Amino acid sequence: METFQDHYQAMMKAIAQYAPYTDLQSVERAVRYADEKHKGQKRKDGSPYIIHPLAVAEIVAEIGLDTDAILAALLHDCIEDTDASFDDIAAQFGQTVAELVEGVTKLTRVEFSTLEEQQVENLRKLFMAMSKDIRVVLIKICDRLHNQRTMEYQTRAKQISKSMETMDIYAPLAHRLGMQKIKWELEDSALQYLDPDGYKELMAYLDAHKEEAEVFMESIQTRISERLSSVGIPCSISGRIKHVYSIYRKMKSQGKTIDELYDLYAFRVIVDSISDCYNVLGHIHEMFNLLPGRFKDYISTPKPNMYQSLHTTVIGDQGIPFEVQIRTKEMHETAEYGVAAHWKYKQGIESGNEKEFEWVRRLLEGQQETDAEDYIHSLKVDMFDDEVFVFTPRGKVISLPAGSTPIDFAYAIHSGVGNTMIGAKVNNRIASYDVQLHNGDIVEILTSKSAKGPSRDWLSICQSNQARSKIKQWFKREKREENIVRGRASFEGELRRMNISPLLLQNEELLPQLLRKLSFESMDDMYAAIGYGGLTAIKAVGKIREDLLKASRSSSAKETGRVLEISQPVRQSRHKDSGVVVEDIDSCMIKFSRCCTPVPGDDIVGFITKGYGVSIHRKDCPNAKAASDPRQAGRWVKVAWLTEDEKPFATTLEATAEDRDGLLFDIAASLTSLRVRTREITGKDLPGGKCQFTITFEVKDVSELSSVMNKIRGISGMLQVKRGQN
Ligand code: MN
Repeated sequence: METFQDHYQAMMKAIAQYAPYTDLQSVERAVRYADEKHKGQKRKDGSPYIIHPLAVAEIVAEIGLDTDAILAALLHDCIEDTDASFDDIAAQFGQTVAELVEGVTKLTRVEFSTLEEQQVENLRKLFMAMSKDIRVVLIKICDRLHNQRTMEYQTRAKQISKSMETMDIYAPLAHRLGMQKIKWELEDSALQYLDPDGYKELMAYLDAHKEEAEVFMESIQTRISERLSSVGIPCSISGRIKHVYSIYRKMKSQGKTIDELYDLYAFRVIVDSISDCYNVLGHIHEMFNLLPGRFKDYISTPKPNMYQSLHTTVIGDQGIPFEVQIRTKEMHETAEYGVAAHWKYKQGIESGNEKEFEWVRRLLEGQQETDAEDYIHSLKVDMFDDEVFVFTPRGKVISLPAGSTPIDFAYAIHSGVGNTMIGAKVNNRIASYDVQLHNGDIVEILTSKSAKGPSRDWLSICQSNQARSKIKQWFKREKREENIVRGRASFEGELRRMNISPLLLQNEELLPQLLRKLSFESMDDMYAAIGYGGLTAIKAVGKIREDLLKASRSSSAKETGRVLEISQPVRQSRHKDSGVVVEDIDSCMIKFSRCCTPVPGDDIVGFITKGYGVSIHRKDCPNAKAASDPRQAGRWVKVAWLTEDEKPFATTLEATAEDRDGLLFDIAASLTSLRVRTREITGKDLPGGKCQFTITFEVKDVSELSSVMNKIRGISGMLQVKRGQN
């Protein structure tokens, strides 16, 4: 079993060798702190947990990161897995270290394995974007490397999902950051779990040809080194078989067997100066046959990840092709450690030991276009700007359009979450609904079963179509009462415009036929549909217009001829009676609230109640103050007092006629066709097959009254029409 001592010493050795400016006292303290915090925790192989942070710190030291990064590596699982808090770590080791640990913790919570294929590239970018400090990503990569190294103790399912993450996220990131060595190891390790058979086969082949390969590499190395020393170019040469995954990938992508592949072998020639690089290139090309099209000059044109080198592929005497990479020591360090070399450079400066890190400075100065600072910066800012990625408290990534708010987030989780939302926390702090979310924010939605649902304001706050349509959906379902009132008003308005009486809809024989044509179960369903905007009143009326006109002509309404008493729907007339007009709604029930008893002249507002029409409040009523509550906003409507000269007056007519089927219906239809607000029609039988109706209705003026009287006189069988007593 691996022991604390082994790993502790390995880490100290790496620090001494690659990170000599490290503050060892702090390291000691961090080791003790982490050891204490992780006390009793075990890794999957049974070894004490502290071995993991020690190993990660060792890798972090190897790539040359600074003291803060090494401390953060030692503490990187403390916030996630122990009772250590951000504040405690900040107090003990400083704000920077605490922020690094927090950053690593955030990335640890990301469930990359649940992501869809096409999101992967964006998430690599996100990974960068959410790490304010690039050291977070570097530490996280080292963390993953050690996990990958110790993957054999995990379950098969975990091996696969983690290895996929490694292949999709971590290896490409390591590549982008120029950390070639780590990238290779990550890829080879992941491959081992993703295609165990393919991996074994390849390893078996390489093993079987090992001696052969060593002999070959030895001979090439010797030839090159003899040649270069004969011309006085100091250099070091190493040969290697390319890493397993790169061979594997080429076999797959080119459909070749391993024998058919070029560049199984790579030789590295490291020299002192750039001019030597080109000199060596000349010698190589003279010694071996050049494979056309394979020469690349990454010295004059570095790769975006700062990589610099000359590459060429040649064929030796045995007909075996091989690649030669030629670079300076400085370039080599950068190739191995990439962006991490930046910290080596910085540490060197801080310690006043500029000479030793001269090469990095030269590297940085030499790159006018791809300055390292710029490069690191652009890694973080060069993000897709139309999307923002945020997290659930459990680390699930949610992708939203840029500018999204907690409302969008809530509906992206589930419409049930959005509809019961009563508040939001962003990064553990209460946030307002309209705050803009940023990459990496952790968003939590507070819900309550007694929440009143979304407000119409949310429609203008949210950014995503998803949220918008779900909110509309809610209004469609939940605001049924309100929608029915609105819908009915506009439907009946449209009928009147076409001179059709809404009373026809009360004909129970006609109704099923109408509903069939309209494809609704009930009239209320249809009103609701019109109310939320799923159907226009014009369209609805259009569908049944013919039927209504026909019914109107055949006067199919039934009366018993006994006591006839119908009251028109109350909401048809009440609101004018009350002297109040409601914006957008021309037939609804009005009631005056008891809390503030508004009288004409007061500033008033209306509130659409459930089932009681609109209640009128004074604007300064405390209950009306609730109008500013966004959840209720959709239910407040503008209302106004009718001006005096618009106020209609009620009048009564007495109409005597020959009794017949459909008579009452014809009277009602006549009134409606004139847009008269009918309050009441009562009827009674008279001797001799006659009947008399008392009609109470509203008119603006006398001319309107006389046109009503004329219309009723025109009804067939009508004997007499005169003004009533009241
Ligand atoms: Mn870890």
